[in-house]
Amino acid sequence: QSRLAFVDLQPPDPILGVSEAFKRDTNDLKLNLGVGAYRTEDLKPYVLNVVKKAEKIMIDSEENKEYLPIQGLEAFNKATADLLLGQGHAATKENRVATLQSLSGTGSLRVAAEFIAKFLPGKTVYLSNPTWGNHKNIFADAGVEWKWYRYYEPKTVGLDFEGMMEDLRGAPEGSVVILHGCAHNPTGIDPTREQWEQMADLCIEKNHLPFFDVAYQGFASGSLDDDAWAPRYFASRGMEIIVAQSYSKNLGLYAERVGAINFVLSDAEAAKRVMSQLKRIARALYSNPPVHGARIASIVVSRPELFKEWNEEMEYMSGRIKQVRQDLNGHLTKINGDRDWSFILNQVGMFSFTGLNKEQCKVMTDKHHIYMTSDGRISLAGLPSSKAEYLAKAIDDCVR
Ligand code: PMP
Repeated sequence: QSRLAFVDLQPPDPILGVSEAFKRDTNDLKLNLGVGAYRTEDLKPYVLNVVKKAEKIMIDSEENKEYLPIQGLEAFNKATADLLLGQGHAATKENRVATLQSLSGTGSLRVAAEFIAKFLPGKTVYLSNPTWGNHKNIFADAGVEWKWYRYYEPKTVGLDFEGMMEDLRGAPEGSVVILHGCAHNPTGIDPTREQWEQMADLCIEKNHLPFFDVAYQGFASGSLDDDAWAPRYFASRGMEIIVAQSYSKNLGLYAERVGAINFVLSDAEAAKRVMSQLKRIARALYSNPPVHGARIASIVVSRPELFKEWNEEMEYMSGRIKQVRQDLNGHLTKINGDRDWSFILNQVGMFSFTGLNKEQCKVMTDKHHIYMTSDGRISLAGLPSSKAEYLAKAIDDCVR
C-alpha cells in the first residue's frame, strides 16, 4: 500500500473540469460555455494578428532565451503599467509604481497574496459574492483570511450596491478589498461610474486597500482605455492601490502566462522597498517569469501601429460577443416573452450570469449537452450566433 493512501481525491476544478467533461461528450450538439476563452464564429481559438506580427518581429531579431531578471522584462513592465494607468501617468513618472511581471493573472494575484500574508498580517481580504472561483484558493493557500461582501442580487440579476456598501462599511479599517476592474466574473455586472465614485469615497473613509483584478481590460466596452477607468480613478483620488493584470483574454495569450502585479504607492521609496519584497517572493515561487509572451505584449503595447491594430481587434472580439448577447436575448424574448431577459444585454464582458440554479445547469448539460459552470455562468465568448437559438431553447426548457 502506498504511504500516500490517506490522500483524499480532490474533485475536478469547477471551471477547468467542465472542459474535461465536454471533451468526453460525443454528441454533435455539444457546446462548451464553461471556460472564458474567446472563440471565432466557427468555434476556433483565435490568435490575434498583432500577436503573429509581434512574433515575426521577434524571430527576425533573433532574441536569446536567457533568464529574465526576477522582476521580468523591463520593456514589458513599462508597457504594462502604461496600459493600466495611461501613458505618462504621474505615478509612473514619479517612480511610485512597483511592477513585477508574473505568471499571468493567477500568478500575479498569488504573489500579492503572499505579500499580504507577510506584510499585512491579520488583514482580511474581502471578495465579492460571487467571484471567480480561484480567488478563494489563492488567498486561502497563501494563508490570508478572506470574507465575502455582497454583490449579486438574484431578484434583479443585478448589483446589490446597498448590500455591498454596507458590508464594506462594516469591514474593519484597512481591509483589503478585491474589486474586478471591469467585466465582473462571473456575473458580467459592473458598478456604474457613480457607484465606483461612492466606493472610492468609502475606501478612503475606511482606509481600505483597493486591490483590482484586471483580467478583461478591453472586453467590457471594447476600449482598453475605458475599461481601465476604475483603477485609474481610484489612483487619481490619491489612494494606494494594488492591481493584478492578465493578458490571457485581451491578447489571447492564455497559455503564455503573461501578466503583472502593480503596487501604485505614495512615494518612490515605498515602491522600491515593496519591489524588493515582491522579487523575494517571486524568487521562491518560480524564480523568474517566462519571456515569450512578455516580449509579444511589450511589442504590441509600445509600437503605435500595432497598438492601434490591437485596439481594432479588441473591438472586433468584444463586438462579436455583444452580437451574440443580442441574439440570445432576441431568441429568448421570442420564445418566452413573459420573462424579462434584458439582464443579458445589461451584463458586460465575456460572461452572462443566467440565474439558472445548480439543478437547472445539470439539465443544461445532461439533456442539452451545453457545458457551463454550476453557478449559472455561461461564456458568451464560446457561443457562435448560429447556436444562439439552440441555447435559448435549452435555457427556456430549464426555466419552464
Ligand atoms: N481573475 C479573473 C477574475 C479571471 O476571470 C481570470 C481568468 N479566468 C484570472 C484572474 C486569471 O487568469 P490567468 O491566470 O489566465 O491570467
